Amino acid sequence: MSDATFLFADFKMAATEANTSRYGHSFGGKHDRRGASRDDCNGILIHLLHRINLRDPSVPIQIPGISWLPLYYVFDFRANDLGYQLTSDDSLQSFFPSDDKHVTTRESWPSKDYPPEFPASDVSIFECQFDPTDPEDAYMWAGVFGVSKLSASDRELVKRRVERDCEYTYDFTDATEEEYDDAMCFPFMQGKPDNRCLNPDCGNHGLNGQLDVIALVPPEPVSGVSLWGGSDVQLIFELCPLCDTIRSSNQST
Ligand SMILES: [Zn+2]
Repeated sequence: MSDATFLFADFKMAATEANTSRYGHSFGGKHDRRGASRDDCNGILIHLLHRINLRDPSVPIQIPGISWLPLYYVFDFRANDLGYQLTSDDSLQSFFPSDDKHVTTRESWPSKDYPPEFPASDVSIFECQFDPTDPEDAYMWAGVFGVSKLSASDRELVKRRVERDCEYTYDFTDATEEEYDDAMCFPFMQGKPDNRCLNPDCGNHGLNGQLDVIALVPPEPVSGVSLWGGSDVQLIFELCPLCDTIRSSNQST
């Protein structure tokens, strides 16, 4: 059973479903632009997941000068994270982290006979109801949007809820506001992403926590395509607000 991919920006969210859209959104298929080939990516094969038409008004994400947003990830365990800057609608520049310790030296994949590309299928995108001033909505998506739009009394309600939900993970005795913010991390499995921009020429290259989450891809984003051989892994896409480089990474239970 497949699950939706979620898209985020500006306190708005949207989700995918298997359907044909007049905007031509898709999943899988061949690389969609120069710079994505194995030769252009240090000999590493990267995979195209969704390809999203940013002209669809249901899509909340905007990137200046770009109409097509591809979601690329590296499933080869020689890299865990991938950075890429969309230099036009037919080119990208990739960046790989140099400090990732948990990687292999040889090419290896989540399962035997991992496909070189995923089968292509059509996807449509619909806007989701989300109200950042509603305590339920804010709590469920706090890891993406934070809880800054809540009233002071609703924030207290949410703090009591996180104390109950996370009592085995966190000790809230004398907890600071920052510690409550850290604990409000749904829907992420391992806390809010705190990554740096992978573009070495960007002012955010040396700074953690400056990137905005724009997409979350589940383990089975379309029916019949299991990205991780059945393991529960989230794929996270973050956008740098300074240079528009995207960083894709994963979290698991
Ligand atoms: Zn950047």
